[in-house]
Amino acid sequence: MDEYKIARDKMVQRLAEHYKISDQRVLDVMSEVPRHLFVPEALKFQAYRDNALPISSNQTISQPYIVAKMTELLELTPACKVLEIGAGSGYQTIILAKLARAVYAIERIPALAKEAKQKLTEFGVKNVTISCEDGTNGWPIYSPFDAVIVAAGSPSVPNPLLEQLKPGGKLVIPIGEDPKSQVLFRFIKEAQGYTTEEHGACSFVPLIGDHGWES
Ligand code: SAH
Repeated sequence: MDEYKIARDKMVQRLAEHYKISDQRVLDVMSEVPRHLFVPEALKFQAYRDNALPISSNQTISQPYIVAKMTELLELTPACKVLEIGAGSGYQTIILAKLARAVYAIERIPALAKEAKQKLTEFGVKNVTISCEDGTNGWPIYSPFDAVIVAAGSPSVPNPLLEQLKPGGKLVIPIGEDPKSQVLFRFIKEAQGYTTEEHGACSFVPLIGDHGWES
């Protein structure tokens, strides 16, 4: 048990009671993973608060509710193969790794990709492969995926990510014409076409790449 266990339990209680996260596996994993080890040293004491926090390279670690909500929407089982775009601190990555069989994570900023890799090695996580590139093209050699999660806001849905889903597969992504505010979307691949759902307003850093923002 670490010194942040009580704060972490309170965070999880808030996710369940206030935010109505009901997938017990997601709640259990978030009560295990030490979020304070994924934020800058000086902000550790804020790690379990209800907001996003700055990490290096001008990026952010997503708000706990958003991590929980996006993960819940993916409906992961231990057999799933997941693609994550925007690994950032690696916090969302480790949550996915504990719920799925394999995670392929892409981060475009080299310093962050390196830190996330180190962190996952420190935690002994073995089912994650991280690459540093533009994730908007997906990762064709490991496709198709049961689930794709994008942790940065896009002006529209990147087609390669839809195309790399298995039938029944789910893509969860924030989309918005304003680079600072989005709506959380879930696309589910059907035998023909996709179903589309909206899951509320959110605010992410921009997804920059071939099928995202230019800069
Ligand atoms: N899940 C991360 C969120 C980090 S913020 C966390 O909670 O720590 C979003 C990340 O997306 C940033 O690190 C940013 O560099 C990355 N990103 C933006 N556009 C990208 C792209 N085209 N491909 C891969 N990563 C991208």
